[in-house]
Amino acid sequence: MIWFTEHWTENVGLTVKANEVKRIKSKYQEILVLDTPEFGKMLVLDGLVQTTERDEFIYHEMLAHPAMVMHSNPERVLVIGGGDGGTVREILKHKSVKEVHLCEIDEEVIIVSEKYFPSISEKLRDPKVKIFIEDGNSFLEERKDYYDVIIMDSSDPVGASEVLFKKEFYEKVKSSLRKNGIMVAQTESPILQEKYFSRAFGEIRKVFRNVGVYLAYVPTYPSGMWSFTIASDFVDVKDTSVNREKVKELKTKYFCDSIYACLFALPQFVQEILKKS
Ligand code: SAM
Repeated sequence: MIWFTEHWTENVGLTVKANEVKRIKSKYQEILVLDTPEFGKMLVLDGLVQTTERDEFIYHEMLAHPAMVMHSNPERVLVIGGGDGGTVREILKHKSVKEVHLCEIDEEVIIVSEKYFPSISEKLRDPKVKIFIEDGNSFLEERKDYYDVIIMDSSDPVGASEVLFKKEFYEKVKSSLRKNGIMVAQTESPILQEKYFSRAFGEIRKVFRNVGVYLAYVPTYPSGMWSFTIASDFVDVKDTSVNREKVKELKTKYFCDSIYACLFALPQFVQEILKKS
């Protein structure tokens, strides 16, 4: 066994005891699979934990379901990034869905996930799913007015993901959405990555009329406190009185009616960050 550390900042990190299962270098990044006693298998890209068997449900449910519930009839859904397949799995729990497009830049992530993380990637070969191995930024240029929900399941805003956190990218997202379309993005940790978080929120707010931020607790992500930013021009994304019955029909382990009801309850310091953004 080895001790693996993800450096959350220069001074603090997450350290786990693990067996190394697989390490490869793809065209875009180093892909590492670890097996850990507490978190099960762990997917690490360029030294950063992306998902673990034990806590992945929290992130994937909270990324996918709020937008899928708020949209009254999501039929066409796009995931950008998300090559592990967890977000796709959650999207397919919604019966209205007719097609899911997954745009992942690195095919090796999908190959590794299908081999080592079958419970996360299990729906990637569903007939409703079409996989595109492309950069999410250029992918959107060819698809105007098409999707009901677009989900940014990207890595941290460095390297290939950096572009996915910019205003110009969110403008493309907006023009790829149909009327009543909703987008949601993972937007980092308000505690340890305040700059990334507030910048992403600020850029999204420049583009969309209605924007909301909500949080979830993901133990293996920096600080545990994780943020998501949801936005739409035509849907009041902060009104969680809508479509409550859809939540009750979902089989989930974290997202539930009481979380949906107070989705936008934010700690005071997070509200202050948003005011300044
Ligand atoms: N839940 C994760 C997190 O916050 O740590 C993200 C998981 S997912 C594995 C992130 C994926 O985004 C990676 O597989 C990466 O290859 C992909 N990605 C990064 N930049 C991209 C881009 N420009 N277009 C499409 N996919 C991209």
